[in-house]
Amino acid sequence: MNKRNYQKELDKVIEGLTNRPSLLLHSCCAPCSSYVLTYLKQYFDITVLYYNPNIYPPEEWGKRAAEQKRLIDALNRKASDERADRGTEDYPDAQAGMIRFICGEYDPRIFYDMAKGLEDVPEGGERCFKCYELRLREAAEYAHDGGYDYFTTTLSISPLKNAEKINEIGEKLSVEYGVKHLSSDFKKRNGYKISCELSKEYDLYRQDYCGCVYSRQERQKRQEKTPEKRI
Ligand code: SF4
Repeated sequence: MNKRNYQKELDKVIEGLTNRPSLLLHSCCAPCSSYVLTYLKQYFDITVLYYNPNIYPPEEWGKRAAEQKRLIDALNRKASDERADRGTEDYPDAQAGMIRFICGEYDPRIFYDMAKGLEDVPEGGERCFKCYELRLREAAEYAHDGGYDYFTTTLSISPLKNAEKINEIGEKLSVEYGVKHLSSDFKKRNGYKISCELSKEYDLYRQDYCGCVYSRQERQKRQEKTPEKRI
């Protein structure tokens, strides 16, 4: 069976747009969202949902949340400066194109309940698929309750994440919640590379582990094996 090309599917949706639909975008962190936001804000009115009960420790969750907000503020400031330079006739609605931010609740117990029995599964396995679903489900619910046209997540930008699984889960939730899921494989078209460049440009904090305590332990073990490569 041919592998699906999620980027091409997204291209098709964008080509068919006749207005600026609303999009609820789940985000795991500022660096991953940087490329996704600069790309999608050309076509969608975006609300970012930072919902990540998987992150350990709580200070790390707070740090990533603050960076997420800082990036959105910077992008909005840039958009409003550009608007001022070009004159208001081009942009009669001052709020159009502005990115909104929702900081989701942080209750790590939800993550630990979900991860029960899967604590030792290596990164990229079953625990991660459930972790994608946990976060995407919250996004689908928000999108449904808020009357959004689409929902999706930044997660597919990471070369370590399974885009096929992310999209499969998104499509399942789309049926469950009655909101369109936007297909994505944001690492395509140099998405990941561009996100690294944007992180430098906006001086974003870039963590070196996925987020949960188990991925932090895996990172630690890797560092112990190759201490010379420690960043
Ligand atoms: S490694 Fe990342 S995706 Fe997997 S369970 Fe941990 S936080 Fe979630």
